[in-house]
Amino acid sequence: MLQGKTALVTGSTSGIGLGIALTLARQGANLVLNGFGDAEAPRAEVEAAGREHGIRVGFHGADMSKPAEIEAMMATINKDFGGCDILVNNAGIQFVANVDEFPVDRWDAIIAINLTSAFHTMRLALPGMKQRGWGRVINIASTHGLVASPGKSAYVAAKHGLLGLTKAAALETATLPVTVNAICPGWVLTPLVQKQIDDRAAKEGLTVDEAKRQLLSEKQPSLQFTTPEELGALAVFLCSDAAINVRGQAWAMDGGWVAQ
Ligand code: NAD
Repeated sequence: MLQGKTALVTGSTSGIGLGIALTLARQGANLVLNGFGDAEAPRAEVEAAGREHGIRVGFHGADMSKPAEIEAMMATINKDFGGCDILVNNAGIQFVANVDEFPVDRWDAIIAINLTSAFHTMRLALPGMKQRGWGRVINIASTHGLVASPGKSAYVAAKHGLLGLTKAAALETATLPVTVNAICPGWVLTPLVQKQIDDRAAKEGLTVDEAKRQLLSEKQPSLQFTTPEELGALAVFLCSDAAINVRGQAWAMDGGWVAQ
């Protein structure tokens, strides 16, 4: 379905980003991966997922908190792949502390990586999408783009901002074959959430399994984690022709979290 298209998934060396990259590769899209840590294993996995379609897989290690590195990455994609057709803004970090104790450098980093980076990739990718007459932007927000939790002010502010950016850009492109949407996952068991489970287990003297159950039962009525594969399937739908009139949406996949 996506043969001949090139997708950039930011923060795709692990977790949700890697899951979405694998799903897009299975649909035949060329993939550009990004993120920290080992890039070779994720790259090999994505190559294997798209082998039957003969996809091309690239990697760029841009730090998404640095606009100049984002510009270099987007220029490389234009040069090596002829542009970015599917942009998945997924890179994100978390830090938990109350507002009056929140480290200023963590606030700045969360806003830069979870929000401002999407502005930079979008401002650089949208002209090519318009010119080529096809494009999909999928911003990975969160239930925390729709509702708040204590201790997560920077993350909640960034994700609410990302939904605002999504809506504004969707209106700006509303008459074009370019759509801009957001996905709002609930709890997904990735390294980002495992850290919160481990912190909770240590702080409250729980086993990791007990901490996991507590985390789910507080917020996610299904009591099941959303999976990167399920999020990938939603991303594929948003890339389909059938989704052409889905614009500016914040699509929750959260086991009922925000229905409460
Ligand atoms: P993760 O920690 O598994 O992956 C984060 C990815 O971002 C990694 O590839 C990491 O290397 C990359 N990254 C971090 N800082 C970066 C930087 N400065 N530059 C480039 N890459 C960077 O986390 P995840 O849970 O897969 O989260 C992915 C996205 O999904 C985030 O935006 C997160 O807010 C969102 N999300 C996660 C959950 C969840 O429950 N896990 C729920 C809702 C939303």
